[in-house]
Amino acid sequence: MLLEKERSLIVEYGKRLLASGLTVGTGGNLSLYDRSSGYVAISPSGLDYESTQPGDVVLVDMDGTVVDGSRRPSSELAMHLGLYAKRSDVCAVVHTHSVYATTLACLEYALPAVHYLIGFAGNEVKCAPYATFGTQELAESACRTIGDTKAVLLAHHGLLAAGVDLKEAFMVAEQVEYCAELYWRAKAIGTPAVISDKEMDTIIEKFGDYGRQ
Ligand SMILES: [Zn+2]
Repeated sequence: MLLEKERSLIVEYGKRLLASGLTVGTGGNLSLYDRSSGYVAISPSGLDYESTQPGDVVLVDMDGTVVDGSRRPSSELAMHLGLYAKRSDVCAVVHTHSVYATTLACLEYALPAVHYLIGFAGNEVKCAPYATFGTQELAESACRTIGDTKAVLLAHHGLLAAGVDLKEAFMVAEQVEYCAELYWRAKAIGTPAVISDKEMDTIIEKFGDYGRQ
């Protein structure tokens, strides 16, 4: 099977999305970009994560043409491809509708640095202006707003997280969700204070060292 390892990883991390509570039912989607072949392995549209098999994972090229697989690729394919085209450092994308991140997205709020763990995503997580799900317009809004960070909220929709591999993209999605919940809680009883950009730069540098160990 073409890109069997990548397809198995999509299946594995799809199950983790459910187990972690980052998504429910068939919500969200995930992909991996194999830069050597130029193919993207992406979760199929509308199939629940528990029953997805490696053979159900769809392979597409960077134009979005299906090169292998009998199922339809995720409806957010354009958003995944857009990010791979824009960012040479990104090889995996996880998209969720996780509750706390999406709560902020419903308010069109950005997530500021109220906790140091946001550093895995960047100095803050911005909120991309609203566009209809599954459209090129949404892909462009997300890709423009994410800048050089690793996550972006999608107004009235959810969260997009990126990484060098699925392990990182998944971790970014988890940390952003955690920080979004903290922000929500902190905002409920007061005015959250925000870590300075200078200190966030220090934190992000330390995370880089940590990753290299
Ligand atoms: Zn979605």
